[in-house]
Amino acid sequence: MSLSGAVSTLLSVAVIAGRVVLDAAAVVRCRRRVHLDHDPAAADAPRAAPDPVLEQRRTDTLAHQDVVGRRLVELIGSPRWLAVPPGTAHERQRATMDAMAARADFIWNAMLPPDLQAGRGGDVDLLVRAKRGGYRPLIVVRHRVSDPGSGALTSALAEPYVERAQVDQSRRYRNHPRDQLRLAHLTRMLQAVGRAARGPAFGAVIGMDADVVLWYELSVPTWPGGRTTLAEYDARFSDRLAVATAAVNQAPALASASQITECRHCVWWPTCEADLTARSDVSLVLRGEEAAAMRAAGVATVVELAALEPTAEPPVVLHGVPFAHAVALARAWLRGLPVVRRVASVPMPRADVEVDIDMESFGESGAYLWGCLLSVPSGPSVAELLGEPTGYRAFVTWQPLPTVDEARSFAQFWGWLTALRGRCRQHGLSFAAYCYNEQAENRWLLASADRFGGQPGVPGRAEVAEFVASEQWIDLFAVVSEWFLCAHGKGLKRIAPVAGFTWADPEAGGENSMRWYRDAVGLDGQPPVLAQRERLLRYNADDVHATRTLREWMCSPKLAEIPLASDL
Ligand code: SF4
Repeated sequence: MSLSGAVSTLLSVAVIAGRVVLDAAAVVRCRRRVHLDHDPAAADAPRAAPDPVLEQRRTDTLAHQDVVGRRLVELIGSPRWLAVPPGTAHERQRATMDAMAARADFIWNAMLPPDLQAGRGGDVDLLVRAKRGGYRPLIVVRHRVSDPGSGALTSALAEPYVERAQVDQSRRYRNHPRDQLRLAHLTRMLQAVGRAARGPAFGAVIGMDADVVLWYELSVPTWPGGRTTLAEYDARFSDRLAVATAAVNQAPALASASQITECRHCVWWPTCEADLTARSDVSLVLRGEEAAAMRAAGVATVVELAALEPTAEPPVVLHGVPFAHAVALARAWLRGLPVVRRVASVPMPRADVEVDIDMESFGESGAYLWGCLLSVPSGPSVAELLGEPTGYRAFVTWQPLPTVDEARSFAQFWGWLTALRGRCRQHGLSFAAYCYNEQAENRWLLASADRFGGQPGVPGRAEVAEFVASEQWIDLFAVVSEWFLCAHGKGLKRIAPVAGFTWADPEAGGENSMRWYRDAVGLDGQPPVLAQRERLLRYNADDVHATRTLREWMCSPKLAEIPLASDL
């Protein structure tokens, strides 16, 4: 049986019989995006190409749903399982309604009819019939939905009923508001067709590990201000519906552009960037809520922010950045300066032996490459003492993730690093390892110890945690954040060029590396492309050369060429 097509529609744009119909994604989407998606006047406005990473995520989610669907059929047994066949929306809606009327226990790949009155539409991975009649929604997602701990309400995969769920002593909820709001959306749709289960509203999620069913009660006050998930959803949905309806009807727009994290992957960025730049909008240097607060206080543009006295009382209290820094950022942005210094010289810890480290991972599947650049600034005699050639080396597995071979490459990386630190200790040499934004490296260092604990050469969690917390492990992103103000972002690709570094590959970037990885290991069923492996290794090597260039630049006289914030 083919389960393909059992994907939740992520598009939120639809006008049916003259009515705007939004799916669940709209409630967590940028309000301006909801406007532009529905504004007929924006039809020809500039757009970016669809983000390949998001496209890839959708494909991966489909594949994951397919695997989970097959597993559920095996566990539950096909007589109780009804899969809605792929077809037009109308055909699927009809098949879903028929299946519910026939009291099917499980309805896979379901699609409820749109609620034109309320403006709601969308599909649902699985409808689960409640013991006392009616249905509850279950969604399959490709992220982790719980963490170690206790308190989550879970049931076994073979028994996806809330009636069989228990408070789990080994799992706690991971915060995923998006999942909860999607379940609220589907619950409202079930209510609209009179098929929602009676009693408290529950919805379920099966996550990346697909080892358990996690249940959310949607009618208890778990949101700020004591709101329930359903109440939070209702408020957000009516707001987004108003925004979309105003756009469709060419009424005055209810949402304007403001730069937020979502902009990085949004197709409308070219249009919004032009708009923000033309208005010199304050969100170009202050993000999210801080920009909104500044606007509310009458400081709507970068020009107005730059004109403020940095030592004066700020017009609003900022939480993310000191007011004086906000003013300096505005002044830097107006002068086209990507980076300014906060201090005359930057405290940068150096050592006799230095290693720049960069890890490459593939989504949630694992970390396939640990790249290390060994430098011995104290001279060739010290390098000789170590018996270890300077330069780049990679510890890698080219078996497609997830693979147990990841344990082998991680163990080799850790063994090399530990032996090097040991030799430094033995010879009385100082040692430092550097990365850029330790979050990712730390996550996979610790996760690798947890996942592969007990396998040859794999350290215990305590050993890794000790290294991560030590003074030998230095996060250059933290150094940049502390001592520089960056008007166009603090990513390595933004900052290293200021220090004079350029990547050999013009397409170098985390997003493209995902595509290269798929080809490199033949993830799509094609033969592995060896040239893409070479490309990934060059890219990783460039990243560690970039961090080395950056930290050497911070200690060099060239740093003085960067203007001081206090001089702006
Ligand atoms: S680019 Fe940013 S502001 Fe514009 S629609 Fe997209 S997310 Fe919203």
